[in-house]
Amino acid sequence: MIRILLDEVDRLKSDGNSSAYDFAAAFDILVAAAYYGSAAHMGWLYCPASPFGSVIFYPYTNVCPSCAVKNQFNFHQANKPQSGVIGAHTARLLILFVQEALIRKKSTIKVFKGSEPVDVIFLDDTTEPATVLLAEIKAAPLFTLPLMLDSQTLTLETEIGVEDAPHRETDNARLFDTDLKIYLPLFNALKNEWSEKAYIIGSKNNRHDTYWAYKGLTKSVK
Ligand SMILES: [Zn+2]
Repeated sequence: MIRILLDEVDRLKSDGNSSAYDFAAAFDILVAAAYYGSAAHMGWLYCPASPFGSVIFYPYTNVCPSCAVKNQFNFHQANKPQSGVIGAHTARLLILFVQEALIRKKSTIKVFKGSEPVDVIFLDDTTEPATVLLAEIKAAPLFTLPLMLDSQTLTLETEIGVEDAPHRETDNARLFDTDLKIYLPLFNALKNEWSEKAYIIGSKNNRHDTYWAYKGLTKSVK
């Protein structure tokens, strides 16, 4: 997945569309794949008002993502992994990411995973004496796109009859073996307006299937 993401960053560069954000965005998508690995049945948010119709989101920010781009705030507890888990993911992935980027630049600098309190070691043994950099990694994704799945329009029984349900926390009883999408809000600066897209990235097979999103996102980016 790292190779394919960096291919894409290179492709954007060769097309003349390069931006410093491409590299950062590639890393965010990589970390997102790790986050999606632990997506669970509980903690989804039902939204009756998305442009895709009624959907459920698995958000990583404390808000309904689709309503947020319309300036409406519907609170929902984010599904952000615990900071210790984030740290372990980002440290491991950042080392691999930087390693691959350096290989592509034909750099002689080698990267090694450190042990506490050092997270990563950079070594350039072409200098005399060798140059060593010991570093601590403080990395978290800037933004993790929510997962999304189509839903029936939920209803509730009230005194006046059956009504459409508002936003609410809901379980996703179809998590396994169902194609999940990533939700992508896009801002058009010229028109000063948001649009929303969703892309299928694959499905999680079972509780232990924590690598499903790496496979799915790799296929999507290709
Ligand atoms: Zn909403």
